[in-house]
Amino acid sequence: MLKKRIEAWIINDIGLTEMDNWNQVMRFALRLAMRVTAVAVVMVSCILLAMDKLGWLIIPLPRGLLIGTGIASVVGFNLTMICSVYLGHAVVHMARTRLEFQQLSRTDMLSGLLNRRAFIDEVMATERGHLLIIDIDRFKQINDRYGHIAGDDVIRNIARLFLTAIEPPHRLARIGGEEFAILLIGLDQAEAIATAERLRRCVATTPVDVQNHTITVTLSGGLADLTPLRDFSAAYAAADKALYFAKAGGRNRMHHESEIRHYILDQEPPLFPGAGILDLAVAAQSS
Ligand code: GH3
Ligand code: MG
Ligand code: MG
Repeated sequence: MLKKRIEAWIINDIGLTEMDNWNQVMRFALRLAMRVTAVAVVMVSCILLAMDKLGWLIIPLPRGLLIGTGIASVVGFNLTMICSVYLGHAVVHMARTRLEFQQLSRTDMLSGLLNRRAFIDEVMATERGHLLIIDIDRFKQINDRYGHIAGDDVIRNIARLFLTAIEPPHRLARIGGEEFAILLIGLDQAEAIATAERLRRCVATTPVDVQNHTITVTLSGGLADLTPLRDFSAAYAAADKALYFAKAGGRNRMHHESEIRHYILDQEPPLFPGAGILDLAVAAQSS
């Protein structure tokens, strides 16, 4: 009980956990020093009063109180200030290290965007939005022709283009080798499709310089709605189907999940029983 109260006092009252700069450390040290001094003064006064009652005090009580509380104040205050400044610094250092570590653990090192885990956390914390999965077209050919380092440069360049085109509250991530994911927030379906299309066009019309070569890459993407009834896996599966549809349809295109549904429903009678997305997309391209 007492332990819990002391812990609550340290965490809530003194604000040990909120310290992340020098001013806060000083405020914390001052608050603690004043409280410890007050407790020390009360304790010393009680001891002196008890000693006086027992006849052990060799000087008059008022003088004893003056000297005793004076020493208790100076020693208690200064000692607590010194200790709590050191403690505060250690806490600030730990808080900063923890923050840096947290940021690193959420960041994809190649692109500087959010990594897969951090992105999933962001999606889980979002009730409504759109999930856009983007994959670089024929990326293996880029690696094969220009080398893996050039491939990495392409990924970095595309991340940079995305960063200039997509701003908060939207979230950007690299969730796999040459696969990006974007969480679009606060847009209706038409706006989300337009945003995906804008990104596709931007990358397709911006040649990138990599390892003494200027190359142009294209993107394919799948867009799915994010609703309270859908978790990340369900939305991802829907976006991935739309992405697959875009790949099968010839690449360098973005599709919303509804376009696949419309396409399937438009086939009267169905193309053939059990037709997969790939067959439907190929048929769509040739029709
Ligand atoms: P598609 O249009 O169907 O997506 O074809 P693709 O060649 O892009 O797809 P595929 O899955 O066949 O190849 C992806 C390649 O991406 C294979 C892998 O070596 C490469 N890759 C994955 N991660 C990285 C990376 O971090 N850096 C580089 N340079 N290459 C990567
Ligand atoms: Mg891929
Ligand atoms: Mg690819």
